[in-house]
Amino acid sequence: MSSVQVAVVTGSNKGIGLAIVRALCKQFPGDVYLTSRDPGRGQAAVAQLQQEGLQPLFHQLDVDDLQSIRALRDFLKEKYGGLNVLVNNAGIAFKVHDTTPFAVQAEVTLKTNFFGTRNVCTELLPLMKPYGRVVNVSSMVSSSALRGCSQELQQKFRSDTITEEELVQLMTKFVEDTKKSVHEKEGWPNTAYGVSKIGVTVLSRIQARLLNEERKGDHILLNACCPGWVRTDMAGPKATKSPDEGAETPVYLALLPSNADAPHGQFVSDKTVRPW
Ligand code: NAP
Repeated sequence: MSSVQVAVVTGSNKGIGLAIVRALCKQFPGDVYLTSRDPGRGQAAVAQLQQEGLQPLFHQLDVDDLQSIRALRDFLKEKYGGLNVLVNNAGIAFKVHDTTPFAVQAEVTLKTNFFGTRNVCTELLPLMKPYGRVVNVSSMVSSSALRGCSQELQQKFRSDTITEEELVQLMTKFVEDTKKSVHEKEGWPNTAYGVSKIGVTVLSRIQARLLNEERKGDHILLNACCPGWVRTDMAGPKATKSPDEGAETPVYLALLPSNADAPHGQFVSDKTVRPW
């Protein structure tokens, strides 16, 4: 088994994920895995970084596919005996003018952004080594979507005692409510992406709490963040940050020094903890 440190970035064949891999290749003292659901797109991205003189490694990962997640888990366990840095970056968003029925958008968006991210965490968090760093890429949209929720939902999502099971039930209820066209009556905002990212931010708060309860002595730090408005296929060319600029906050959180005990369980943008 290798004693080399290892970092994994999900959804990193393009956009912010690729920029995070680029930065980690330059700054992280160990192996950096670029992952992609499509091996062809992944290998092309690896080749691009190699042309820049960097040496990322590649592993397939589709966060929608439990078998794919478990294959990566087994590989990391076998080769490295665990994991030092995990960046959950993979995500999707329908375009504003997409005419796909809202209930379908809700199901598809929640599947990847919330349930996929949660499945990766379920399988990979137990592998995190002491002083490990976990970064869940959420969005400022999670905060605005939270403010668009009913008072009752806001209270649940801000709760310091909400469990992962309760959060899963709420995310599942949102999808079901959209199918019955009652989501607004039930207190949800009219944004599938926003609700999926509420899920990512709240999941991060819960996971950080569990780490405090169960693995305090391991000094693992886990946070959610917003990369900012970044010029990628998702956000388009008018966004204000380059992908490398968008990678700065996720990379800062991924490389928090071993003597840091904060931030942990926070929502961070521009390297600053934001109120939730
Ligand atoms: P992007 O350019 O569209 O890249 C998204 C990445 O996620 C791609 O590599 C994509 O792979 C991958 N992906 C999607 N579904 C996946 C799955 N099931 N399994 C594995 N990988 C999957 O978007 P981006 O702007 O870089 O976004 C990266 C993250 O930042 C997302 O979580 C997004 O919500 C968040 N974010 C972005 C902005 C922004 O302004 N851009 C703002 C706030 C938050 P394929 O190439 O195979 O589709």
